[in-house]
Amino acid sequence: MNADHDVSGAELVRLTDRVWAWIQADGTWWVNNAGAVAGERGLCIVDTCATATRTRAFLAAVGDNVGTPIRWAFNTHAHGDHTYGNSLLPADTMLIGQRAMCDYLRTDPVIDGCPPLWEPVPNWGEVTRRVPEVEFTDDLTLDAGNLRVELRHPGYPAHTTGDGVAWIPDEGVLFTGDLLFNGLTPLVFMGSVDGALRSLEWLTGFGATQIVPGHGPVISGPDLDRVLADHEEYYRLIQALAAEGIQNGKEPLEVAVAADLGRFSGWADNERLVPNLHRAYADRGAGEVDVVTALADAVTWRGRPMRTVV
Ligand SMILES: [Zn+2]
Repeated sequence: MNADHDVSGAELVRLTDRVWAWIQADGTWWVNNAGAVAGERGLCIVDTCATATRTRAFLAAVGDNVGTPIRWAFNTHAHGDHTYGNSLLPADTMLIGQRAMCDYLRTDPVIDGCPPLWEPVPNWGEVTRRVPEVEFTDDLTLDAGNLRVELRHPGYPAHTTGDGVAWIPDEGVLFTGDLLFNGLTPLVFMGSVDGALRSLEWLTGFGATQIVPGHGPVISGPDLDRVLADHEEYYRLIQALAAEGIQNGKEPLEVAVAADLGRFSGWADNERLVPNLHRAYADRGAGEVDVVTALADAVTWRGRPMRTVV
């Protein structure tokens, strides 16, 4: 790999003959996973990264290790850690995303400057807004050349309103985007707690042997049951805290301050409790989530800005 593109903690992992995952440790805020799928007609990239440096490192590793020219790319959802590097893809790459994902990225203000809610404040580098040219609503199947890549939307909000997974049935690999986090606190404040809970069964239905989550290590074998059970227990805890808080007339931040997270208190990025509670309130009719307020409340709960390493 070109030293200029070296990013510590990032690794291109070969999952099968035709599928690679770009796993970036330690998976905290803005440090995502991505991937590449190689068919006979070309390569399909799954997600880019938050910064120009991280995206260049990913694309250089793919170029060095896979070689096949990039022909398509897919964004699993609109969040900047998965999309801000889009403009560094070759210009003739056909970029694909779910419709609600495209709508959000078109107006996302954070690409123009990140608010000081994280420490250090991320600097994206030389990237420009690139929204997918091809939109789908429910599903789209790509024939990459003797290899099918199935792009599927769950049909309801979950991590965001425009989530999509990439399923490669011949290889048994599923890229879930941020519908799953492995070893870090899940985040659902721009989607739905109820929908995220519902999506777990939908994800199970693919029968994948290897899953690339949006953040954290690749999931395979018996780990999948553990990861799904963790998510279910966590989402049910958020739902219960929100129901009780609403009943007692408390604000999400008050509920979070008093909450016992149990074993989830030791999870990375545990301040996501606060924005997740904002969403659980909204799921119960408390009005739309103000994204900046929800994140600012997380900083208050934590007592300092949130962590990132970008
Ligand atoms: Zn996300």
